[in-house]
This record gives sequence, structure tokens and C-alpha cells, in this order.
Amino acid sequence: MLDVTVIRKDFPILSRKVNGKPLVYLDNAATSQTPQQVIDVIVNYYSNYNANIHRGVHTLSQEATDKYEEARKKIQTHFNAEKAHEIIFTSGTTHSINLVANGFASLLKSDDEVIVSALEHHSNIVPWQMLCEKTGATLKVIPMNEKGELVMSDYANLLSNKTKLVFVNHISNALGVINPIEDIIEKAHKVGAAVLVDGAQACPHIKPNVQQLDVDFYVASAHKMCGPTGVGMLYGKEKWLNKLPPYQGGGEMIAEVTFEKTTYADLPHKFEAGTPNICGGIAFGAAIDYMNAIGFDNIATYENELLAYATKKLLDIEGLRIYGNSKHKTSVISFNIGNVHPYDIGSIVDKLGVAVRTGHHCAQPIMDFYKIPGTVRASFAFYNTFEEVDVFVDAVKKASQMLT
Ligand code: PMP
Repeated sequence: MLDVTVIRKDFPILSRKVNGKPLVYLDNAATSQTPQQVIDVIVNYYSNYNANIHRGVHTLSQEATDKYEEARKKIQTHFNAEKAHEIIFTSGTTHSINLVANGFASLLKSDDEVIVSALEHHSNIVPWQMLCEKTGATLKVIPMNEKGELVMSDYANLLSNKTKLVFVNHISNALGVINPIEDIIEKAHKVGAAVLVDGAQACPHIKPNVQQLDVDFYVASAHKMCGPTGVGMLYGKEKWLNKLPPYQGGGEMIAEVTFEKTTYADLPHKFEAGTPNICGGIAFGAAIDYMNAIGFDNIATYENELLAYATKKLLDIEGLRIYGNSKHKTSVISFNIGNVHPYDIGSIVDKLGVAVRTGHHCAQPIMDFYKIPGTVRASFAFYNTFEEVDVFVDAVKKASQMLT
């Protein structure tokens, strides 16, 4: 069981006011808030052992290196990767996907095919389109239905021995729908295709087990799971990471450099050129510790209750439509009221202290499917309360009265 009153005390930002009203932060799918425990780790890093890592013989450098590598091990344990060097630090999900897409440019041929889903964030579409442009490979799309679910029978028909790679998100950021990734992975592997799962939206809610999933690549961002921005991870099976060429060249990623030839460092350093976000990586580890101490089962149970409560209350508002009515959902509600522009609702509720997201949520193909310009998206975290849901629903009601 969660004690939300106690948990909220960990988050200094939650006691601030916005436009004279207590902040009700419901934009967690865009970025989550940061607990004091993680802020303390950041302050401690810059106050006590800020130094560059891996190369230094001095004490500060060794301390920073130890903490950074400790964080990698925490991430390894959290995702249940077999080896620590299968975890690559990146600047976030977008960077992780680009790294893999860039690597596949040297592995694909022009008659190969890759498969994406209709439910993706632009960062899991555009890098693959760029890859297809470079290689001549064909991009195929798993369609979605009205409920925001993938049409799995169509997926089965898209797969063939030409399919080299499938990339889908674990949970849609625009709708909150959970995709059947186990099934997607199993079917892809039957035709010999690798699978990348974008876990940016899943990791704040569930604990993925990459070995059990047998997924080839899994990517996430720290800032969606109580960590700082500008840091994230790529899990890749060792055999794949060894096959892919480096993404960027520079310091840290080499074994030996001469003007005639450069050889690359072993994993994970081959993919970590330049000085990384050292503090961010260490804070990412601390954020994972924080979330595990609360417990992902507790988080899921509580967030599902918040979701059910908010969904029921919102549906009482006349003309309100929720997109993505799947039973398999996390705590995201994407909605519109009649023909009111989402931006207008978002602006009015902001005046009442409520932070929601409006627009296409970097998922324009989903908006095109529903023939809408965008939605209002409320996304709940384990530190939100039922009282906040009440404030939010009242604010939406007020906005609706003003605008319809
Ligand atoms: N994929 C999904 C599903 C996301 O929700 C996001 C962030 N909105 C991203 C990818 C991109 O993450 P980042 O901006 O942290 O790289």
C-alpha cells in the first residue's frame, strides 16, 4: 500500500502554487517530478566529487567512476539484463533509438523490410524512416483500431523472411495503451527479425524484465521515472551490440587511435563517445532505487485506481470523448470535448493550477487516425491524489462550460 501523503513530502515541487492555486501536476507522461532523494544525489555529486570518469587516477575521478558504474549495475539489475555492459548510457530514448537505427544502416539491404506500429511517438518513427532512406529498405506499419489497440492479425501478415527489425513502444504516450510486446517479440523472432521496444512510457509504471521478454533492444529515459533530463539507457543483447558499429566517434570509445586506423573499445564504451552526463547517470540510478523502494506493484495498483476514478468522473462531462478505450492501459487519459480545441482547455485549467498536456503528443499518425488535431492528455503518477483528480475534473468542467 502507498502512503501518498508521506510520498508527496519527498517532492518539493508538489507544494508550489501556480497562478495562485496549488499545483496539480498531471503531465507526468511528458516528464515526471524529482524526489528530494534524487535532488540530494545531484547536489552531492557537484558538491563533493565532480570529476571526469574512467581516465583519472585521482581520488575524485575514481569516486565518480565508481558511482557511475554502480548506477549502470543498478540499471542492469532493474531491467534484469544478463551483463552490465549490455546497458549503454545515452541522453535519452531518442538518442538510444537513433543509435540503433544508425547501426542498422550497415546491416540492411534494399529488399529488406522493417515494421513499425501505428501507435508510435515520432522518435520511434523518424529515425527508421531515415534508415529506410539510407538503405532502400521498406517501412511497414501495424495498423491500430478505434480502441487504440494494434491489429495483431495484420501484424502476423506483415511478417516475412524479409523482415529484419520490428520497433514498437511498450506503452503509447498519446493514449496510455499497453501493447502486447511479448506476442510481438515472439512472432518477430520466428521470422528471424530483431525487436526494439521503446519503454519510455512503460518504465514509470512497470518493471520490464528484458531476459524474460527476450527483447533485443529496450530503451528508456530517466526523466520519465523520477530522474533528471538528458540521460537514458539502451539495453541491447550483447550479440547485437557487438554487431552494430559505433554511433559517434571520439574520446572514451576507442582502444587505439593512429592516423592509419582506429580500433574501438569494448562494450559498453564503444557506444559512449565523449564525456557523458556523469551526474545524470548517477542520479538515474538513485531514481531507480527510489521507485523500487516504493515498489512497482504498489505503483501499478494505486495508479490503476486513480485511472478508474478519473475516467468515471470525466465521462460524466457532456460531449467528452476519451481516445484509446482499451482495457490494457496505464494512467493516461487522452480526451476532447466536442469540437473545443485542446489548447483552449489546457490554458483554462492551467489558470486553475492544473498542468495537462495538449496537442498531438509527438504522435501525429494517431491523431490522423482519429481525424483530430490533438487531445488534452492527463497523465497520473503515484504521487497524485484522488483530491487532485477532483480539482482537475472540476477545472475541466469549468473550461467546458466556458467554451461550449
Ligand atoms: N517514446 C515515447 C513513447 C515517449 O513518450 C517519449 C517522450 N515523450 C519518447 C519516446 C522520447 O523520449 P525523450 O524525449 O526522453 O528522448
